[in-house]
Amino acid sequence: MPSPRPMAYPDEVRRRAEACLVSGVSRGFNFLPEFGPLYFSSGTGSRLRDVGGHDYLDLVMGWGSLLLGHNPPVIADALRQAVETGSLFQHETVAHIELAEFVARHVPCAEKVRFTGSGLEATLYATRVARAHTGRRKILKFEGHFHGMHDATTLGLSSSPLGERRLDGTVEPTAGSAGVPDVVADLTLVVPYNDLSALESAFRAHRGDIAAVIMEPIAMNMGCIAPAPGYLAGVRQICAQDGAVLIFDEVLTGFRVGLGGAQAKYGVTPDLACFSKAFGCGLPIAALAGRADLMALLGPPGPVPMSGTNSARLLVVAGALAAMRELAQPGFYDGLEKRGQQMAQGLATVAADAGIAASAVSFGGRTSIFFGCPEPPANLRDVASGWDADFHTRVYRELMTSQHVYGFIPLPNAPDPINVTAAHSEADIEEALDKFATAVSSARR
Ligand code: PLP
Repeated sequence: MPSPRPMAYPDEVRRRAEACLVSGVSRGFNFLPEFGPLYFSSGTGSRLRDVGGHDYLDLVMGWGSLLLGHNPPVIADALRQAVETGSLFQHETVAHIELAEFVARHVPCAEKVRFTGSGLEATLYATRVARAHTGRRKILKFEGHFHGMHDATTLGLSSSPLGERRLDGTVEPTAGSAGVPDVVADLTLVVPYNDLSALESAFRAHRGDIAAVIMEPIAMNMGCIAPAPGYLAGVRQICAQDGAVLIFDEVLTGFRVGLGGAQAKYGVTPDLACFSKAFGCGLPIAALAGRADLMALLGPPGPVPMSGTNSARLLVVAGALAAMRELAQPGFYDGLEKRGQQMAQGLATVAADAGIAASAVSFGGRTSIFFGCPEPPANLRDVASGWDADFHTRVYRELMTSQHVYGFIPLPNAPDPINVTAAHSEADIEEALDKFATAVSSARR
């Protein structure tokens, strides 16, 4: 039997952690229901080392942030230089302008840009701007889409997959966290993704009250699910007809599926868009971008104040700029997409060879295998009805405990996506596929 714990770290480490950190972790998702907390000591390229000295092939990659891998030299050099010049002037630098110019040059909706510290903050400000613009109260989101952990001012934790356990056809969400008043959760509407008639019904039922539709244009928090042909254009049209603001949450898709994000890939321009993860390639930075008239609602000059002591410090701006220049190198995205497809096709073959019905999809390296779904699911309801969560968990447990592949991202309702990055070589992917094959065959026993 494999050890129930993937990492042979000294018990002393966990004892110390549990004495001062809730459940021994500094962030909730770092506590894996399967294993408890994990403790790592270093990361390079596609590999992580745990505090017990064991190396892992990393398929989590900073929850999708580390598009250039762990500790890429270009970012390390930029950070070193920024530290030497002083990292927090509390005012603008030319690097800030250059980074904003980069976003504006590549992202179709980005007439104006502001930076902030996390995806959560970017989506929070986006929804606040939408409410300020429309004078309306409600925010509509989609089942299985995740927009960060914020609550009172905007979505409530009902925006988290953690809060979406009801798949009974209603569009009213439950609050996904204790501490979110019902009155806040009631302002969030939830409808199935890839279903225009459900969206139209919600707009009919809440006419004149929906400030914004916020969505992951390619859903990447319930496995990876592509928008159906014409779906994004349909959402765009419905929002335009009603006067609601369309927000693309490109925290995962942005700078991953291309420099212009999903909006450039599908040719549908939202009013506002949020970026983080690949935008910082591991650094704590995010961007809110969009139509100039909407962005002008941010203070100053507008009535929606936006700031933060730690937002857009030179340190992260300089690092993000170095990362963006790397992503803009010719052939970067072709290489990433090729390796993502290699992973997806390889996983589909592993499943087929084992006689297991499955489908695999990949966008910009973010890759999912849906055991139990012979066709790629169209939304969370398809995932809920087809996906074999038990088998998936057995495979991943085996990968973690016996194969030294770090793969778990805790998602309660859907498979954990794999993050292939520019740091994963073809040989890394072959290695991962061999290990998946072994794990799949053990999980079947
Ligand atoms: N939006 C999406 C699509 C995300 O996947 C996430 C985080 O995973 C967020 C927003 C929240 O970002 P952060 O974790 O930086 O607050």
